[in-house]
Amino acid sequence: MIDQRRTRKLNLKADGLGPVVYWMSRDQRFRHNWALLYACHKANELGRPLEVIFTLAPCFLGASKRHYDFMFKGLREVETSLRDAGIPLTVLAGEPGQTISSYASHLGAGVVVTDFSPLKPVRDWKNRAAALLPCAFYEVDAHNIVPCWKASPRQEFAARTIRPKLEALRDTFLTTFPHPEAVYQPDTLSRPAVLWEEFADMIEADNSVIPVSDLEPGERAAEKRLRQFLDHGLDDYAKGRNDPNAGCVSGLSPYLHFGHASAQYAVYQASLSSSSQESRDSFIEELFVRRELAENYCFYNSNYDSFDGIPDWAKASLMNHAADHREYSYKAAQFDRAETHDPLWNAAQISLVETGIIHGYMRMYWAKKILEWSATPASAFDIALWLNDRYALDGRDPNGYTGIAWSIGGVHDRPWFDRPVYGKIRYMNASGCARKFDVPRYIASFSDKNNPA
Ligand SMILES: Cc1cc2nc3c(=O)[nH]c(=O)nc-3n(C[C@H](O)[C@H](O)[C@H](O)COP(=O)(O)OP(=O)(O)OC[C@H]3O[C@@H](n4cnc5c(N)ncnc54)[C@H](O)[C@@H]3O)c2cc1C
Repeated sequence: MIDQRRTRKLNLKADGLGPVVYWMSRDQRFRHNWALLYACHKANELGRPLEVIFTLAPCFLGASKRHYDFMFKGLREVETSLRDAGIPLTVLAGEPGQTISSYASHLGAGVVVTDFSPLKPVRDWKNRAAALLPCAFYEVDAHNIVPCWKASPRQEFAARTIRPKLEALRDTFLTTFPHPEAVYQPDTLSRPAVLWEEFADMIEADNSVIPVSDLEPGERAAEKRLRQFLDHGLDDYAKGRNDPNAGCVSGLSPYLHFGHASAQYAVYQASLSSSSQESRDSFIEELFVRRELAENYCFYNSNYDSFDGIPDWAKASLMNHAADHREYSYKAAQFDRAETHDPLWNAAQISLVETGIIHGYMRMYWAKKILEWSATPASAFDIALWLNDRYALDGRDPNGYTGIAWSIGGVHDRPWFDRPVYGKIRYMNASGCARKFDVPRYIASFSDKNNPA
Protein backbone atom coordinates (compact mmCIF):
# COMPACT_ATOMS: atom_id res chain seq x y z
CA MET A 1 0.00 0.00 0.00
CA ILE A 2 1.28 3.47 -0.84
CA ASP A 3 1.34 6.11 1.88
CA GLN A 4 -0.96 8.82 0.45
CA ARG A 5 1.25 11.50 2.00
CA ARG A 6 3.83 10.76 -0.70
CA THR A 7 1.36 11.87 -3.39
CA ARG A 8 -0.35 15.10 -4.27
CA LYS A 9 -2.71 16.14 -7.02
CA LEU A 10 -1.47 18.75 -9.51
CA ASN A 11 -4.85 19.51 -11.11
CA LEU A 12 -8.53 19.32 -10.23
CA LYS A 13 -9.59 16.64 -12.72
CA ALA A 14 -11.05 13.37 -11.43
CA ASP A 15 -9.65 9.92 -12.25
CA GLY A 16 -11.00 8.89 -15.66
CA LEU A 17 -11.71 5.51 -17.19
CA GLY A 18 -8.77 5.34 -19.59
CA PRO A 19 -5.29 3.80 -19.19
CA VAL A 20 -2.87 4.94 -16.51
CA VAL A 21 0.34 6.65 -17.63
CA TYR A 22 3.45 6.97 -15.49
CA TRP A 23 5.38 9.96 -16.84
CA MET A 24 8.83 8.92 -15.63
CA SER A 25 11.17 11.84 -15.27
CA ARG A 26 13.64 12.05 -12.43
CA ASP A 27 13.38 8.59 -10.93
CA GLN A 28 14.64 6.43 -13.74
CA ARG A 29 14.40 3.01 -12.12
CA PHE A 30 12.10 0.03 -11.89
CA ARG A 31 12.64 -0.97 -8.28
CA HIS A 32 12.14 1.08 -5.12
CA ASN A 33 10.19 3.71 -7.00
CA TRP A 34 7.09 5.07 -5.24
CA ALA A 35 5.83 6.79 -8.40
CA LEU A 36 5.83 3.56 -10.39
CA LEU A 37 4.31 1.71 -7.44
CA TYR A 38 1.55 4.29 -7.21
CA ALA A 39 0.90 4.08 -10.95
CA CYS A 40 0.62 0.26 -10.70
CA HIS A 41 -1.74 0.67 -7.77
CA LYS A 42 -3.91 3.16 -9.69
CA ALA A 43 -4.03 0.87 -12.72
CA ASN A 44 -5.27 -1.99 -10.57
CA GLU A 45 -7.71 0.18 -8.63
CA LEU A 46 -9.26 1.43 -11.88
CA GLY A 47 -8.86 -1.88 -13.72
CA ARG A 48 -6.91 -0.17 -16.52
CA PRO A 49 -3.63 -0.91 -18.29
CA LEU A 50 -0.43 0.94 -17.45
CA GLU A 51 2.26 2.37 -19.65
CA VAL A 52 5.35 4.41 -18.93
CA ILE A 53 6.35 7.47 -20.94
CA PHE A 54 9.68 9.27 -20.85
CA THR A 55 9.67 12.68 -22.53
CA LEU A 56 12.93 13.85 -23.99
CA ALA A 57 13.41 17.63 -24.18
CA PRO A 58 15.84 18.70 -26.93
CA CYS A 59 18.18 20.07 -24.24
CA PHE A 60 18.20 20.22 -20.44
CA LEU A 61 20.16 22.79 -18.43
CA GLY A 62 23.28 22.34 -20.54
CA ALA A 63 23.51 18.56 -20.13
CA SER A 64 26.32 17.18 -22.29
CA LYS A 65 26.97 13.97 -24.17
CA ARG A 66 28.44 12.54 -20.96
CA HIS A 67 25.12 12.98 -19.16
CA TYR A 68 22.91 11.72 -21.97
CA ASP A 69 25.07 8.66 -22.42
CA PHE A 70 24.71 7.80 -18.72
CA MET A 71 20.98 8.47 -18.81
CA PHE A 72 20.21 6.50 -21.98
CA LYS A 73 22.11 3.45 -20.72
CA GLY A 74 20.14 3.56 -17.48
CA LEU A 75 16.86 3.95 -19.35
CA ARG A 76 17.62 0.96 -21.56
CA GLU A 77 17.80 -1.12 -18.41
CA VAL A 78 14.50 0.34 -17.21
CA GLU A 79 12.92 -0.54 -20.56
CA THR A 80 13.97 -4.18 -20.16
CA SER A 81 12.76 -4.44 -16.55
CA LEU A 82 9.43 -2.87 -17.44
CA ARG A 83 9.02 -5.14 -20.46
CA ASP A 84 9.63 -8.18 -18.25
CA ALA A 85 6.76 -6.93 -16.07
CA GLY A 86 4.55 -6.46 -19.15
CA ILE A 87 4.69 -2.66 -19.01
CA PRO A 88 5.75 -0.82 -22.17
CA LEU A 89 8.10 2.17 -22.12
CA THR A 90 7.73 4.79 -24.84
CA VAL A 91 10.05 7.75 -25.35
CA LEU A 92 8.58 10.90 -26.86
CA ALA A 93 10.64 13.86 -28.02
CA GLY A 94 9.51 17.47 -27.62
CA GLU A 95 8.63 20.02 -24.97
CA PRO A 96 7.70 17.66 -22.13
CA GLY A 97 4.56 19.35 -20.71
CA GLN A 98 2.99 19.70 -24.13
CA THR A 99 4.16 16.29 -25.31
CA ILE A 100 2.79 14.30 -22.37
CA SER A 101 -0.53 16.17 -22.57
CA SER A 102 -0.97 15.49 -26.28
CA TYR A 103 -0.08 11.84 -25.81
CA ALA A 104 -2.43 11.39 -22.84
CA SER A 105 -5.28 13.11 -24.72
CA HIS A 106 -4.74 10.93 -27.77
CA LEU A 107 -4.65 7.80 -25.60
CA GLY A 108 -7.73 8.83 -23.60
CA ALA A 109 -5.70 8.38 -20.39
CA GLY A 110 -7.64 8.26 -17.13
CA VAL A 111 -4.73 9.15 -14.84
CA VAL A 112 -1.19 10.49 -15.27
CA VAL A 113 1.31 9.98 -12.46
CA THR A 114 4.73 11.64 -12.35
CA ASP A 115 7.67 11.82 -9.97
CA PHE A 116 8.90 14.88 -8.08
CA SER A 117 11.62 17.43 -8.74
CA PRO A 118 12.06 20.87 -7.18
CA LEU A 119 13.87 22.23 -10.25
CA LYS A 120 12.29 25.11 -12.16
CA PRO A 121 12.24 23.72 -15.71
CA VAL A 122 10.62 20.50 -14.54
CA ARG A 123 8.04 22.43 -12.54
CA ASP A 124 7.28 24.50 -15.64
CA TRP A 125 6.68 21.33 -17.66
CA LYS A 126 4.34 20.06 -14.97
CA ASN A 127 2.45 23.34 -14.74
CA ARG A 128 1.87 23.17 -18.48
CA ALA A 129 0.78 19.54 -18.24
CA ALA A 130 -1.52 20.31 -15.29
CA ALA A 131 -3.28 22.94 -17.39
CA LEU A 132 -3.52 20.80 -20.56
CA LEU A 133 -4.09 17.23 -19.37
CA PRO A 134 -7.65 15.96 -19.80
CA CYS A 135 -7.41 13.68 -16.74
CA ALA A 136 -6.23 13.51 -13.11
CA PHE A 137 -2.54 14.34 -12.65
CA TYR A 138 -0.66 13.10 -9.56
CA GLU A 139 2.87 13.81 -8.36
CA VAL A 140 4.66 11.30 -6.13
CA ASP A 141 7.87 12.19 -4.32
CA ALA A 142 9.91 9.11 -5.16
CA HIS A 143 13.22 10.86 -4.55
CA ASN A 144 13.01 11.81 -0.90
CA ILE A 145 12.32 9.80 2.19
CA VAL A 146 10.04 12.49 3.64
CA PRO A 147 8.15 14.12 0.75
CA CYS A 148 9.59 17.59 0.20
CA TRP A 149 6.28 19.38 0.76
CA LYS A 150 5.67 17.42 3.99
CA ALA A 151 9.13 17.93 5.46
CA SER A 152 8.62 21.67 5.86
CA PRO A 153 6.26 24.35 4.55
CA ARG A 154 9.08 26.89 4.11
CA GLN A 155 12.73 27.42 3.22
CA GLU A 156 14.79 26.16 6.14
CA PHE A 157 17.72 28.11 7.55
CA ALA A 158 20.10 25.25 8.15
CA ALA A 159 20.50 21.55 8.84
CA ARG A 160 19.76 22.22 12.51
CA THR A 161 16.28 23.58 11.65
CA ILE A 162 15.18 20.87 9.21
CA ARG A 163 16.76 17.94 11.09
CA PRO A 164 14.13 17.73 13.88
CA LYS A 165 11.33 17.94 11.32
CA LEU A 166 12.80 15.14 9.23
CA GLU A 167 13.62 13.06 12.28
CA ALA A 168 10.05 13.38 13.58
CA LEU A 169 8.71 11.89 10.35
CA ARG A 170 11.54 9.47 9.62
CA ASP A 171 10.10 6.32 11.15
CA THR A 172 6.77 6.59 9.37
CA PHE A 173 8.41 7.10 5.96
CA LEU A 174 11.56 4.99 6.21
CA THR A 175 9.88 1.74 5.23
CA THR A 176 10.72 -1.16 2.97
CA PHE A 177 9.33 -1.17 -0.56
CA PRO A 178 6.61 -3.54 -1.77
CA HIS A 179 7.10 -5.30 -5.10
CA PRO A 180 5.25 -3.56 -7.93
CA GLU A 181 1.76 -5.04 -8.15
CA ALA A 182 1.20 -7.12 -11.27
CA VAL A 183 -1.00 -5.10 -13.61
CA TYR A 184 -3.48 -6.59 -16.08
CA GLN A 185 -2.23 -5.62 -19.54
CA PRO A 186 -4.38 -6.41 -22.60
CA ASP A 187 -2.68 -7.96 -25.65
CA THR A 188 -3.49 -4.81 -27.62
CA LEU A 189 -1.10 -2.80 -25.46
CA SER A 190 2.03 -3.38 -27.44
CA ARG A 191 4.52 -0.65 -28.22
CA PRO A 192 7.60 -0.79 -30.44
CA ALA A 193 11.02 -1.08 -28.79
CA VAL A 194 12.63 2.31 -28.18
CA LEU A 195 15.05 3.39 -30.91
CA TRP A 196 17.67 4.78 -28.54
CA GLU A 197 20.20 5.72 -31.22
CA GLU A 198 17.64 7.92 -32.97
CA PHE A 199 16.90 9.76 -29.75
CA ALA A 200 20.58 10.17 -29.00
CA ASP A 201 20.98 11.85 -32.41
CA MET A 202 18.13 14.27 -31.69
CA ILE A 203 19.68 15.76 -28.57
CA GLU A 204 21.33 19.19 -28.62
CA ALA A 205 24.20 18.29 -26.31
CA ASP A 206 27.78 19.47 -26.02
CA ASN A 207 29.66 16.57 -27.60
CA SER A 208 33.04 17.81 -26.38
CA VAL A 209 32.29 16.50 -22.87
CA ILE A 210 32.75 12.85 -23.55
CA PRO A 211 31.16 9.94 -21.66
CA VAL A 212 33.12 8.38 -18.82
CA SER A 213 33.93 4.75 -19.34
CA ASP A 214 34.78 3.61 -15.81
CA LEU A 215 31.40 4.23 -14.19
CA GLU A 216 28.70 1.85 -15.27
CA PRO A 217 25.22 3.42 -15.26
CA GLY A 218 21.92 1.82 -14.29
CA GLU A 219 20.02 0.25 -11.46
CA ARG A 220 22.08 -2.92 -11.25
CA ALA A 221 25.35 -0.99 -11.13
CA ALA A 222 23.88 1.32 -8.47
CA GLU A 223 22.86 -1.63 -6.33
CA LYS A 224 26.33 -3.14 -6.70
CA ARG A 225 27.96 0.15 -5.72
CA LEU A 226 25.72 0.47 -2.66
CA ARG A 227 26.47 -3.10 -1.59
CA GLN A 228 30.23 -2.59 -1.98
CA PHE A 229 30.07 0.60 0.04
CA LEU A 230 28.02 -0.96 2.83
CA ASP A 231 30.38 -3.93 3.02
CA HIS A 232 33.72 -2.17 2.59
CA GLY A 233 33.39 1.66 2.93
CA LEU A 234 30.74 2.57 5.44
CA ASP A 235 32.65 1.47 8.53
CA ASP A 236 35.35 4.09 7.81
CA TYR A 237 32.96 6.79 6.62
CA ALA A 238 32.89 8.94 9.77
CA LYS A 239 36.65 9.23 10.05
CA GLY A 240 37.57 9.04 6.37
CA ARG A 241 34.89 10.90 4.47
CA ASN A 242 36.90 14.14 4.32
CA ASP A 243 39.95 12.38 2.90
CA PRO A 244 39.73 12.21 -0.89
CA ASN A 245 42.47 9.55 -0.96
CA ALA A 246 40.70 7.22 1.45
CA GLY A 247 38.09 5.85 -0.97
CA CYS A 248 35.45 5.47 1.71
CA VAL A 249 32.65 7.62 0.32
CA SER A 250 29.76 5.88 -1.39
CA GLY A 251 30.09 7.25 -4.95
CA LEU A 252 26.30 7.05 -5.17
CA SER A 253 25.57 10.61 -6.27
CA PRO A 254 25.41 10.03 -10.07
CA TYR A 255 23.05 7.10 -9.44
CA LEU A 256 20.91 9.13 -7.07
CA HIS A 257 20.87 12.06 -9.46
CA PHE A 258 19.55 10.00 -12.38
CA GLY A 259 17.24 8.06 -10.11
CA HIS A 260 19.06 4.76 -10.73
CA ALA A 261 19.28 4.43 -6.94
CA SER A 262 16.69 5.19 -4.29
CA ALA A 263 17.95 7.27 -1.35
CA GLN A 264 15.32 5.67 0.86
CA TYR A 265 16.50 2.16 0.03
CA ALA A 266 20.12 3.18 0.64
CA VAL A 267 19.34 4.79 4.01
CA TYR A 268 17.26 1.79 5.04
CA GLN A 269 20.06 -0.62 4.12
CA ALA A 270 22.65 1.56 5.89
CA SER A 271 20.51 1.60 9.01
CA LEU A 272 20.60 -2.23 9.05
CA SER A 273 24.37 -2.38 8.60
CA SER A 274 26.67 -3.67 11.32
CA SER A 275 29.11 -0.78 10.75
CA SER A 276 29.87 1.58 13.61
CA GLN A 277 27.00 3.72 14.84
CA GLU A 278 29.08 6.84 14.24
CA SER A 279 29.62 6.00 10.57
CA ARG A 280 26.01 5.02 10.00
CA ASP A 281 24.82 8.27 11.58
CA SER A 282 27.27 10.32 9.58
CA PHE A 283 26.26 8.72 6.27
CA ILE A 284 22.55 9.04 7.03
CA GLU A 285 23.08 12.69 7.98
CA GLU A 286 24.43 13.33 4.45
CA LEU A 287 22.10 11.13 2.47
CA PHE A 288 18.96 12.04 4.39
CA VAL A 289 19.27 15.39 6.20
CA ARG A 290 21.72 17.30 3.96
CA ARG A 291 20.25 15.96 0.74
CA GLU A 292 16.68 16.72 1.74
CA LEU A 293 17.78 20.15 2.98
CA ALA A 294 19.05 20.82 -0.55
CA GLU A 295 15.70 19.74 -1.99
CA ASN A 296 14.00 22.14 0.44
CA TYR A 297 16.26 25.02 -0.67
CA CYS A 298 15.45 24.52 -4.35
CA PHE A 299 11.75 23.90 -3.72
CA TYR A 300 11.20 27.12 -1.78
CA ASN A 301 13.81 29.49 -3.23
CA SER A 302 13.19 30.31 -6.89
CA ASN A 303 16.66 31.87 -7.15
CA TYR A 304 18.42 28.67 -6.07
CA ASP A 305 20.56 28.75 -9.21
CA SER A 306 21.93 32.26 -8.83
CA PHE A 307 23.76 34.62 -6.52
CA ASP A 308 20.40 36.34 -5.91
CA GLY A 309 19.23 33.35 -3.88
CA ILE A 310 21.79 33.65 -1.09
CA PRO A 311 20.92 35.18 2.33
CA ASP A 312 20.98 38.95 2.77
CA TRP A 313 23.85 38.90 5.32
CA ALA A 314 26.05 37.00 2.85
CA LYS A 315 25.14 39.18 -0.12
CA ALA A 316 25.82 42.38 1.84
CA SER A 317 29.11 41.09 3.17
CA LEU A 318 30.33 39.83 -0.22
CA MET A 319 29.34 43.08 -1.89
CA ASN A 320 31.28 45.05 0.75
CA HIS A 321 34.34 43.16 -0.40
CA ALA A 322 33.56 43.07 -4.13
CA ALA A 323 36.28 45.60 -4.91
CA ASP A 324 38.95 43.95 -2.72
CA HIS A 325 42.27 43.19 -4.37
CA ARG A 326 42.46 39.58 -5.60
CA GLU A 327 45.91 38.09 -5.41
CA TYR A 328 45.01 35.86 -8.34
CA SER A 329 42.20 36.39 -10.82
CA TYR A 330 41.07 33.96 -13.49
CA LYS A 331 38.47 33.92 -16.22
CA ALA A 332 36.01 31.06 -16.71
CA ALA A 333 38.10 29.53 -19.52
CA GLN A 334 41.24 29.43 -17.33
CA PHE A 335 39.34 27.64 -14.58
CA ASP A 336 37.90 25.31 -17.18
CA ARG A 337 41.38 24.39 -18.46
CA ALA A 338 42.73 23.94 -14.89
CA GLU A 339 45.20 26.75 -15.45
CA THR A 340 45.45 28.25 -11.99
CA HIS A 341 48.66 28.64 -9.96
CA ASP A 342 47.39 26.04 -7.45
CA PRO A 343 48.15 22.36 -8.21
CA LEU A 344 45.57 21.25 -5.65
CA TRP A 345 42.78 23.21 -7.29
CA ASN A 346 43.91 22.11 -10.74
CA ALA A 347 43.87 18.48 -9.63
CA ALA A 348 40.26 18.80 -8.45
CA GLN A 349 39.28 20.40 -11.75
CA ILE A 350 41.06 17.69 -13.75
CA SER A 351 39.26 15.07 -11.71
CA LEU A 352 35.95 16.74 -12.55
CA VAL A 353 36.70 17.05 -16.26
CA GLU A 354 38.17 13.60 -16.73
CA THR A 355 36.10 11.43 -14.41
CA GLY A 356 32.90 13.46 -13.99
CA ILE A 357 33.44 13.32 -10.22
CA ILE A 358 35.08 15.45 -7.54
CA HIS A 359 35.34 14.22 -4.01
CA GLY A 360 32.90 16.03 -1.68
CA TYR A 361 35.59 17.64 0.48
CA MET A 362 37.49 18.91 -2.57
CA ARG A 363 34.26 20.29 -3.97
CA MET A 364 34.12 22.80 -1.12
CA TYR A 365 37.73 23.88 -1.63
CA TRP A 366 37.21 24.03 -5.41
CA ALA A 367 34.14 26.32 -5.14
CA LYS A 368 35.62 28.58 -2.45
CA LYS A 369 38.75 29.19 -4.49
CA ILE A 370 36.59 30.12 -7.49
CA LEU A 371 35.10 32.79 -5.19
CA GLU A 372 38.56 33.94 -4.11
CA TRP A 373 39.97 34.17 -7.65
CA SER A 374 37.01 35.52 -9.65
CA ALA A 375 36.34 39.16 -10.50
CA THR A 376 33.05 39.26 -8.56
CA PRO A 377 31.14 36.91 -6.23
CA ALA A 378 28.22 36.73 -8.69
CA SER A 379 30.55 35.69 -11.52
CA ALA A 380 32.17 33.12 -9.19
CA PHE A 381 28.72 31.60 -8.57
CA ASP A 382 28.04 31.38 -12.31
CA ILE A 383 31.47 29.90 -13.12
CA ALA A 384 31.19 27.24 -10.41
CA LEU A 385 27.71 26.30 -11.55
CA TRP A 386 28.73 26.19 -15.20
CA LEU A 387 31.71 23.91 -14.54
CA ASN A 388 29.83 21.67 -12.14
CA ASP A 389 26.88 21.21 -14.48
CA ARG A 390 29.08 20.83 -17.55
CA TYR A 391 31.26 18.01 -16.22
CA ALA A 392 29.87 16.46 -13.04
CA LEU A 393 27.84 13.33 -13.62
CA ASP A 394 25.68 14.36 -10.70
CA GLY A 395 25.38 18.00 -11.89
CA ARG A 396 22.13 19.97 -12.36
CA ASP A 397 21.00 18.54 -9.03
CA PRO A 398 19.51 20.33 -5.99
CA ASN A 399 22.66 19.22 -4.13
CA GLY A 400 24.82 21.04 -6.69
CA TYR A 401 22.90 24.32 -6.56
CA THR A 402 22.87 24.18 -2.78
CA GLY A 403 26.51 23.09 -2.46
CA ILE A 404 27.61 26.06 -4.55
CA ALA A 405 25.28 28.40 -2.69
CA TRP A 406 26.74 27.09 0.60
CA SER A 407 30.37 27.42 -0.48
CA ILE A 408 30.12 30.80 -2.18
CA GLY A 409 27.00 32.32 -0.63
CA GLY A 410 26.79 31.11 2.98
CA VAL A 411 23.46 29.30 2.45
CA HIS A 412 22.70 27.07 5.46
CA ASP A 413 25.88 28.37 7.09
CA ARG A 414 26.49 31.22 9.54
CA PRO A 415 28.57 34.40 9.29
CA TRP A 416 32.28 33.88 10.12
CA PHE A 417 35.06 36.38 10.78
CA ASP A 418 35.23 39.14 8.21
CA ARG A 419 38.17 38.81 5.80
CA PRO A 420 39.20 40.09 2.37
CA VAL A 421 37.20 38.92 -0.65
CA TYR A 422 35.20 36.32 1.34
CA GLY A 423 33.62 38.82 3.72
CA LYS A 424 31.84 36.68 6.31
CA ILE A 425 31.70 33.56 4.15
CA ARG A 426 33.52 30.58 5.68
CA TYR A 427 37.11 30.42 4.43
CA MET A 428 39.09 27.38 3.36
CA ASN A 429 42.74 27.04 2.41
CA ALA A 430 45.27 24.48 1.30
CA SER A 431 46.85 24.14 4.75
CA GLY A 432 43.42 23.10 6.09
CA CYS A 433 43.40 20.40 3.40
CA ALA A 434 46.94 19.34 4.36
CA ARG A 435 45.76 18.79 7.95
CA LYS A 436 43.06 16.44 6.69
CA PHE A 437 44.78 14.42 3.96
CA ASP A 438 47.90 13.72 1.94
CA VAL A 439 47.71 16.61 -0.54
CA PRO A 440 50.66 15.56 -2.78
CA ARG A 441 49.11 12.13 -3.16
CA TYR A 442 45.81 13.64 -4.27
CA ILE A 443 47.60 15.94 -6.72
CA ALA A 444 49.56 13.02 -8.13
CA SER A 445 46.30 11.17 -8.87
CA PHE A 446 45.20 13.94 -11.25
CA SER A 447 48.49 15.30 -12.36
CA ASP A 448 48.70 15.55 -16.13
CA LYS A 449 48.67 19.35 -16.14
CA ASN A 450 50.54 19.78 -12.89
CA ASN A 451 53.45 17.53 -13.82
CA PRO A 452 53.62 17.42 -17.59
CA ALA A 453 55.74 14.47 -18.68
C1 LIG B 1 30.47 23.12 -4.41
C2 LIG B 1 29.69 21.85 -4.26
C3 LIG B 1 29.05 21.31 -5.34
C4 LIG B 1 28.30 20.13 -5.22
N1 LIG B 1 27.68 19.64 -6.31
C5 LIG B 1 26.91 18.51 -6.21
C6 LIG B 1 26.21 18.02 -7.33
O1 LIG B 1 26.24 18.58 -8.42
N2 LIG B 1 25.45 16.89 -7.16
C7 LIG B 1 25.39 16.23 -5.97
O2 LIG B 1 24.72 15.20 -5.87
N3 LIG B 1 26.04 16.70 -4.89
C8 LIG B 1 26.79 17.81 -4.97
N4 LIG B 1 27.44 18.29 -3.86
C9 LIG B 1 27.24 17.62 -2.57
C10 LIG B 1 28.29 16.52 -2.25
O3 LIG B 1 29.57 17.02 -2.43
C11 LIG B 1 28.07 15.29 -3.13
O4 LIG B 1 26.74 14.84 -3.00
C12 LIG B 1 28.99 14.13 -2.74
O5 LIG B 1 30.33 14.53 -2.81
C13 LIG B 1 28.74 12.97 -3.68
O6 LIG B 1 29.66 11.93 -3.47
P1 LIG B 1 29.20 10.59 -2.76
O7 LIG B 1 27.94 10.09 -3.39
O8 LIG B 1 30.37 9.69 -2.74
O9 LIG B 1 28.85 11.14 -1.32
P2 LIG B 1 28.77 10.43 0.09
O10 LIG B 1 29.65 11.16 1.02
O11 LIG B 1 28.91 8.97 0.01
O12 LIG B 1 27.29 10.81 0.56
C14 LIG B 1 26.15 10.02 0.20
C15 LIG B 1 25.10 10.91 -0.41
O13 LIG B 1 24.71 11.90 0.54
C16 LIG B 1 24.38 13.10 -0.14
N5 LIG B 1 25.31 14.16 0.26
C17 LIG B 1 26.60 14.06 0.61
N6 LIG B 1 27.11 15.27 0.90
C18 LIG B 1 26.11 16.14 0.71
C19 LIG B 1 26.00 17.55 0.85
N7 LIG B 1 27.02 18.30 1.26
N8 LIG B 1 24.82 18.14 0.57
C20 LIG B 1 23.77 17.40 0.17
N9 LIG B 1 23.80 16.07 0.03
C21 LIG B 1 24.96 15.45 0.30
C22 LIG B 1 24.54 12.81 -1.63
O14 LIG B 1 23.31 12.43 -2.15
C23 LIG B 1 25.56 11.68 -1.63
O15 LIG B 1 25.49 10.89 -2.80
C24 LIG B 1 28.19 19.48 -3.97
C25 LIG B 1 28.85 20.04 -2.86
C26 LIG B 1 29.60 21.21 -3.00
C27 LIG B 1 30.27 21.78 -1.81
